Amino acid sequence: MEIQQEKLKSKYCWAGKTATAIRPIKSGQENSATGGDCICARKRGLISCVCCQKSFMGRIASRCPQHPEVAYLMDSRNCAFCGAAAKYLQIDEV
Ligand SMILES: [Zn+2]
Ligand SMILES: [Zn+2]
Repeated sequence: MEIQQEKLKSKYCWAGKTATAIRPIKSGQENSATGGDCICARKRGLISCVCCQKSFMGRIASRCPQHPEVAYLMDSRNCAFCGAAAKYLQIDEV
């Protein structure tokens, strides 16, 4: 029973996805058209927190100037350990 409901749900989700603001990022074409200010494809780095002195891999959440409507849920807005705000986080690109 459970499984069948799940299947139905994902079918609907998939159908509705085309209407959402989050879309896959195409590097290249879109980049050159908009001047190359896009930070969507930036690499992950070692984020260190000045509050708790711990570090973890990821990206600090930042709004892309070219795609302000796109949100990256995996990006960190806070320290993973102590929850400090992004302004207390520093990133070392690796
Ligand atoms: Zn972008
Ligand atoms: Zn911290």
